[in-house]
Amino acid sequence: MHVIYGGTFDPVHHGHLRLALEISDRLGVGYVSLVPCHIPPHRGQTGASSRQRLELLRLAVAGEPQLRIDDRELSREGASYTADTLRQLRAELGPDEPLVMVVGTDAFAGFDRWREWQHIPDLAHVVVVRRPGPALDPSSEPARLLAERGVESPEALHDSPCGCVLELDPPLLDVSATGIRERIGDGRSPRYLVPDSVWTEIRRQGLYGACPDGNF
Ligand code: ATP
Repeated sequence: MHVIYGGTFDPVHHGHLRLALEISDRLGVGYVSLVPCHIPPHRGQTGASSRQRLELLRLAVAGEPQLRIDDRELSREGASYTADTLRQLRAELGPDEPLVMVVGTDAFAGFDRWREWQHIPDLAHVVVVRRPGPALDPSSEPARLLAERGVESPEALHDSPCGCVLELDPPLLDVSATGIRERIGDGRSPRYLVPDSVWTEIRRQGLYGACPDGNF
């Protein structure tokens, strides 16, 4: 089984990293691939460039065998569409290997605005991680997809290459990249919300308005 967890990671934080480890444990896979997007289609300009975000991710996962980085979206021109990434992976894995993409409920709520979203279940399983915030609108397309294709246990994902939706409710850290960018911009330390190596690099490069010789 191959598991990907995509995001802007602007910057990567302990909420992302803990979740990826939980997913790896719960799905019983050796590792989860973090897939930073190059140009996010559904949001404005990122705080750091894709290369800078990738560099921070590399520092964050260094020495952790359960977390890997797949930087394929940075080598494609233009906006990063998940359907393209999944299609590439499916071609590499062959038709039978289970492929899983992980999203938070916030991202899944807008799933029907993703390019080719109706084809995504033909390429991969979707694991939806419950995050605090509004519940899925029961009349929405993503809720319908969940009702039609929902499975109860991670084991079900091993039985087919794609097509299932599994909701998981792992413990989550209450951290967001938006909060971290605001904190840094205000001159406050994000220490203990991001790995120290990430914070050191953010300061070194003066990302998100960080002052290079500011608070550790
Ligand atoms: P932003 O605040 O800029 O929107 P973010 O922290 O939500 O960023 P993204 O890179 O947009 O991070 O999110 C990538 C994925 O990680 C999404 O599926 C999102 O739901 C999930 N995610 C974000 N923060 C957490 C967290 N604290 N715990 C678990 N999952 C998270």
